[in-house]
Amino acid sequence: MKFLTKIKGEFHQNHPLAIYTSWQIGGPAEYFYHPTDLLDLAAFLKNCKLEPVVLLGAGTNVLIRDGGIKGVVIYLRGSLNALSELDDFTIRAEAGVSCSRLVQQCVHLSFIDAAFLAGIPGTIGGALAMNAGAFGDTIWNHVITVETINRKGEIKNRAASEFTPGYRKVVGLAQDEWFVAGHLQFASGNEAEAQKRVREIIQKRQETQPINQASCGSVFRNPPNDYAARLIENCGLKGMQVGGAKISEKHANFIINEGDAKATDVEKLMQVIIDMVQQRYNITLQPEVLVLGEAIKN
Ligand SMILES: Cc1cc2nc3c(=O)[nH]c(=O)nc-3n(C[C@H](O)[C@H](O)[C@H](O)COP(=O)(O)OP(=O)(O)OC[C@H]3O[C@@H](n4cnc5c(N)ncnc54)[C@H](O)[C@@H]3O)c2cc1C
Repeated sequence: MKFLTKIKGEFHQNHPLAIYTSWQIGGPAEYFYHPTDLLDLAAFLKNCKLEPVVLLGAGTNVLIRDGGIKGVVIYLRGSLNALSELDDFTIRAEAGVSCSRLVQQCVHLSFIDAAFLAGIPGTIGGALAMNAGAFGDTIWNHVITVETINRKGEIKNRAASEFTPGYRKVVGLAQDEWFVAGHLQFASGNEAEAQKRVREIIQKRQETQPINQASCGSVFRNPPNDYAARLIENCGLKGMQVGGAKISEKHANFIINEGDAKATDVEKLMQVIIDMVQQRYNITLQPEVLVLGEAIKN
């Protein structure tokens, strides 16, 4: 592969992906790339002709099927890591920066309204793609501009007004265009108040979510005017297990990997939940988690 001489990052063939997901589940990537930085990512996209390209942030909102992903998976957590203060209470965060690092930097700068991102375990790129949010706020409420990259490795600045954010989604990226940075604006206050808000949010999460177990967070989207967790709990499903996948006793919308869960176990358990909630409430739950890749063919 000639393009390897033009890039500096880590390239692998048939590379296991489970360790790159918070669920610790999934088959291998046919090809895998971990760039060193933004310019290296651009060089990779320009020179590598492998298709399709799938981007992973920190893998905290994906279920990768047991047959893995065809084409090339680009993993951004730990690269594209630049974080800097701009004017007007604005921060530029590259796509591989973790939400927790951004939150800590905002505390340090006395920005008081970034605390809602505390405890969301993904990257800024993933948060932009999913319009991550909690406690009444979402990331796109703070976006001024984003930087994107396309399949040819061309980088563009695009205004927030070119995008339409929705519930755990945003519309506006072209086919084969990805976020490489966000310019995010927050309100200024004082450091102690910012720190206090973060602590309160982390405490709320610890009380209500199984944050020390392998999961993808909420598996299903909340239906209008209701909570998926309430519906699942009322169907008596807490603690139900298929193979190594178990519905959390602490939060009914979390599925835990007990250690050896396969993606098929999770998908079967998701189907049980969908069927039971449909039967009892006539509501069709929609997955929030993104299912990627191929099932293993028997
Ligand atoms: C314990 C726990 C708690 C959670 N709590 C919350 C919560 O409160 N609120 C919430 O919103 N989410 C929550 N999540 C879900 C998840 O953390 C968020 O959706 C997060 O924003 C995903 O980021 P990621 O980097 O892990 O993305 P990934 O899971 O790697 O990717 C998610 C999707 O985004 C795409 N993507 C990733 N990076 C980019 C990029 N740079 N450009 C374009 N597309 C990209 C991927 O292709 C994929 O389709 C939780 C998850 C866990 C495990």
